[in-house]
Amino acid sequence: MASFDKEIVFLRLPPFFGKFFTHPQECQVPFPIAYAGACLKKDGFKVSVNDQWAREEAPSRMLRGLLAGDMGMLVMHVDSMNRDVVMDTAWAVRRHCGRSLPMIATGQYADVFPESLVGTAGPFDAAVRGEPELTLVEVARAARSWQEAGCPGDGPDFSGIAGVTWSVADRSRIVRNEDRPLIAGLDDLPLPDFGLFDLDRYAKMSSFVPVRGRVRWGWIMSSRGCPFGCLFCSPTLRKSYGTRYRTHSPEYVSSMVHDLVVNHGCNAIAFEDDVFSLDRNRTIEICHRIRESNPGVFWTAQTHLATLDGEVIQAMAEAGCRGLCVGIESGDEAVRRVLKGQSLSDSDIERNVALIHAHGIQLTAYFMVGCPGETLEQMKKTVEMARRIDPAMIQVAFFTPYPGSPAWDRYMVGGRHEPDMSHYNRFSVNLSAAPRKDVERLHDRFYTSFFLRPKWIARYVTRRLPYVVLQSRGREWKLLFNTLVYLFAPVHSVKMDSMDSIRRL
Ligand code: SF4
Repeated sequence: MASFDKEIVFLRLPPFFGKFFTHPQECQVPFPIAYAGACLKKDGFKVSVNDQWAREEAPSRMLRGLLAGDMGMLVMHVDSMNRDVVMDTAWAVRRHCGRSLPMIATGQYADVFPESLVGTAGPFDAAVRGEPELTLVEVARAARSWQEAGCPGDGPDFSGIAGVTWSVADRSRIVRNEDRPLIAGLDDLPLPDFGLFDLDRYAKMSSFVPVRGRVRWGWIMSSRGCPFGCLFCSPTLRKSYGTRYRTHSPEYVSSMVHDLVVNHGCNAIAFEDDVFSLDRNRTIEICHRIRESNPGVFWTAQTHLATLDGEVIQAMAEAGCRGLCVGIESGDEAVRRVLKGQSLSDSDIERNVALIHAHGIQLTAYFMVGCPGETLEQMKKTVEMARRIDPAMIQVAFFTPYPGSPAWDRYMVGGRHEPDMSHYNRFSVNLSAAPRKDVERLHDRFYTSFFLRPKWIARYVTRRLPYVVLQSRGREWKLLFNTLVYLFAPVHSVKMDSMDSIRRL
């Protein structure tokens, strides 16, 4: 029988298993686990993370290790990309552990389709909708009370816990508790617990920082929420919930930087906010504080081009910013208006990108093809823009109407979650004005026509290669190898699911 002398285990699963990833993906720290782990520990629970993004074990080995551990409660993040892997694994755990192990789902899929994860349809006891940290503490208390009472009835009583969907009456009736408001006072949360992760296994691969010797990345989400409402955006793609912008204070951000540098030995920081520089004054103050208290730290951030200007970019560069990630999405203004509502003009984009480059900051730009109504000519304008503005790194996605996005509500009413939504390099739903095959061909050529330019190759060899050789400890070779496979293999037909061995267990 599970017991709360034992651990609350967060099982973090990738979209697919295996050491050979077909996409040159990064490994990023999951903030909800870092925050929820800190909140649960503060409440007296023991917490551990079984992190398959970092460990990359074979499915059977992963499952054996998990079942051999001391689990008091199992928490799994489920989203559009890893849904199938999570469901198969969760059913396997359920078969082995029976009903005495409370199993909880969090993440975008639990937020949008909680009913599909609990009751008779799903393996979980409860789905946590929205921000999980505070809800999970109450869920863990209810699970502990249930276990201390000898596991009576159908399972733990989650009634009254806001943000939870669960089932009663022998799992036949699903109950949707009231919504939980978004967390307003972010500074009231404990510092995220990065001791739960092996930080050496994590790296921000799209950017590099000019550190001599070993790079150890630390991770900060200094704000939550984004008011822009892009058509394609859902919690699958972004890291926080809600349109209301909420921030940690500059003092708190400074203490997070200090914690990562002093207590975790980090010498590079990745700010993973959805839009880091949305509040201009706050951004400049954070930059001043980093300069004063942690002058040697290099960092990167994700933001929106519309929130940048010369003064903000200069403040960021002077405070150690060496990489920015922005979503440009399309080289066609009309398509950008469809995707992003009010949109920057081509000249605004080019001016801000030039400013970023002038301050020595590398740009990672995200683009998208196959957008609603988009023609091949408009997609070609995106390819041309990428070559023209010449960022250090690009990522090209197919437009995908993920559950939880405005596009899902607009185009997928009554529709279903497509299996191909397991990755944005699959063209799961064609809403464009071009045939699917043509869009897929353009997507592949987008990468080759961008990366196989002498200018880009020369920059890679002269700037990034020293970093590759000295600092990335093999990760960069894997990234380079996977990138070449990705560029030249027919990626749309590669089978990524390796779950058969889990299903047999
Ligand atoms: S894509 Fe970025 S800017 Fe647009 S809504 Fe999502 S987080 Fe905000």
